[in-house]
Amino acid sequence: MTETRECILLIEDEPQMRRFLRVTLQAHGYRLIEASSGQEGLLEGTTRNPDVVLLDLGLPDMDGIEIAKRFREWSEVPIIVISAREQEEDKVKALDAGADDYLTKPFGAGELLARIRVALRHRALQSSGQRDPIFVAGDLKVDLASRQVFIKDEEIHLTPIEYRLLAVLIKHAGKVVTHKLLLKEVWGPVYTDQQQYLHVYMAQLRKKIESDPARPRLLINEPAVGYRLKINM
Ligand code: CA
Repeated sequence: MTETRECILLIEDEPQMRRFLRVTLQAHGYRLIEASSGQEGLLEGTTRNPDVVLLDLGLPDMDGIEIAKRFREWSEVPIIVISAREQEEDKVKALDAGADDYLTKPFGAGELLARIRVALRHRALQSSGQRDPIFVAGDLKVDLASRQVFIKDEEIHLTPIEYRLLAVLIKHAGKVVTHKLLLKEVWGPVYTDQQQYLHVYMAQLRKKIESDPARPRLLINEPAVGYRLKINM
């Protein structure tokens, strides 16, 4: 058992799911606050100041998307959505409403803990106002200050759009970035429906940075949602 005492707010109505999460999170030293409805979750969120929120989308009293929006009116706390498969579309809406990441049920404890560590790391970097100018993941190294990209220490050339795409994924490293957000940040707000741009440039970027572009290990596709730059946590 580790001695992390970060506080996690769990908003989930299913008792079995709550039990699984309670056992897993407490075994890893997290403090846990539980809420079984949206109203209760919002109340606990405002009074207890959690470090991470785990938010179920299918709640009895409120829409999870609405809860994510309400949190974003006053808080930057990382929100990880937990959703059932049939909530696929809502998951994207929740991410666009300000949630940071998602897990689809059923998920394993290892995956959950990794996502929480990513969320906590982003929160720590945010509050310290610092960002490491050198980003490393596997064979990829990016110097964000000089905009140089290396594979196995050999410099490679990216076009400006390929670089911007990679830089946005690095900014959100480890977390899913929706198609809409990628299009907005790389091409601008009027291009948010042009998903084919993304597919074309993502394929180009994979050819340059993946050792096997058909089996990407860094630039992971999240079907119907977006992409994730995989990091080891
Ligand atoms: Ca539920």
